[in-house]
Amino acid sequence: MDLLIRGGTVVGEEKQRRADILVREGKIVEISETIVPPGGHDVVDATGMLVLPGVIDVHTHYGMVGARGVRTADDFYQGSVSAAAGGVTTVIDYADPMTGESLPEAALKRRLEAEEGIAIDFSLHVVVSKFGQQDVPELAALAEQGITSLGEIFTSHPSLKIDTEDLRLLLVKARDAGILATMHAEDDLLIQEAGRVLRQAGQDDKQYHGISRPIEAEVTAIKGLIEMAAELECPLYIVHVSSGEGAKAIADARRAGLLIMGETCPHYLLLNEGRYRETGAALYIMNPPLREAANNDALWAALADGTLQVVTTDHCSYTRQQKEASSLCFEIMPGVPGSETLLPLLYTEGVGKGRIELPRLVQLLSSNPARIFGIYPQKGTIAVGSDADMVIFDPVKEVTITALEQHSAAGYTLFEGWKVKGYPRLTLLRGQVIFRDGQFCGERGAGRFIPAHKGQIL
Ligand SMILES: [Zn+2]
Repeated sequence: MDLLIRGGTVVGEEKQRRADILVREGKIVEISETIVPPGGHDVVDATGMLVLPGVIDVHTHYGMVGARGVRTADDFYQGSVSAAAGGVTTVIDYADPMTGESLPEAALKRRLEAEEGIAIDFSLHVVVSKFGQQDVPELAALAEQGITSLGEIFTSHPSLKIDTEDLRLLLVKARDAGILATMHAEDDLLIQEAGRVLRQAGQDDKQYHGISRPIEAEVTAIKGLIEMAAELECPLYIVHVSSGEGAKAIADARRAGLLIMGETCPHYLLLNEGRYRETGAALYIMNPPLREAANNDALWAALADGTLQVVTTDHCSYTRQQKEASSLCFEIMPGVPGSETLLPLLYTEGVGKGRIELPRLVQLLSSNPARIFGIYPQKGTIAVGSDADMVIFDPVKEVTITALEQHSAAGYTLFEGWKVKGYPRLTLLRGQVIFRDGQFCGERGAGRFIPAHKGQIL
């Protein structure tokens, strides 16, 4: 049956307007001021509500086995339920090849694993930690499978790090195959050195986490990558930029005409390293770390002026017990949950506080990620012919964020006790209501793999 969304304010990349939306067989078929459908139809009354495109979180780690063999708490099902509760209708997760496995094999295996549980739509990035001439044909095979991004490629982390020569070849061949490389930028040598100094001084408690991975490591890595991208004439996308200086390096590169893009996360916008000296510090450990508060403002400015194009969460949910298994900054599992609070936080702290405009919010959370990762206009916009992925968002609903009402298996949130004004009432995936006022009403395994085409450079 058709679905009519009536009376809402529809928000696009450029502007917002009052309009009705008609949905048929999972697609948007009409948008106009007043729609009176001829036949039978269900109605969603969106009077007083914002109608936003479904949020696309392009950086999640569901059921990921971390470096020490510890698996993240949210599997594809639970993670996607939590995401849907926050208005997220598509995620891009990671396929990480095992030794001896080709990139397309790893991607297919991960796709099948996801399809068993995931309740929202998804795409995949493929992790590359080794790359030689013999691997070049695998890139074309990936693109044929509908996978057009790689990452996150590490410049830190001894076991995941790619050799510089491998990386240079990879960047060129990926570009030629229409595939975007996404990079985790932290300089390995600087992190090793900071760690050595701390260990020598016996300073290995969680309060030293920030110092163990200094801003300098991020900035050095970003600058090195930019230099490489410039020399090779390749585009690059930097994941989770955590510092104002890191963002500035990207801004300078873009001004010089280089094809560098980047994302940040709510925790880098809203929290600071003071958390590492408070109780519960282990819960706040992620890589790169939280920074001094001045970086928050610099990153908001980078979102507003176009230096950074996307906000993601790096949702990597370990439980409190998993996080607190050690008190040493070098041993605590890095990663935090976040998809469920992404939209309410960005709306409250961004739009509500005048840091960004409403259409910019839609760009950062929906249309830009869809464009960059090659799933636009099927995803990321409210337009005739697009998938009917939408959030009916109540701009005046006040909620105090608490882990008790979150749906992640992590069992905690970095934003416990935060008050937000503006919250999703209803999440629609291809015309189906999958979340309504705190209740999940979607289906395990109903999420689909969305084949990506070559993305845009923004
Ligand atoms: Zn990540």
